[in-house]
Amino acid sequence: MSLSGVKCTVANCKYNNEKRLCSASAIEVNVDGGGESARASQQTNCHTFEAK
Ligand code: SF4
Repeated sequence: MSLSGVKCTVANCKYNNEKRLCSASAIEVNVDGGGESARASQQTNCHTFEAK
């Protein structure tokens, strides 16, 4: 199973499948450096990541 439509290029995450889709049942994404406001996608960060 994968999160429908969640593409991710983090190949070394244990939830990343061979089609570069996220297979986690849910993910948590936070703003880099804290807070609740990001100005660009580069300032967001998946905290569900776990290294393979
Ligand atoms: S948990 Fe996060 S980093 Fe890992 S595959 Fe899913 S979206 Fe990517």
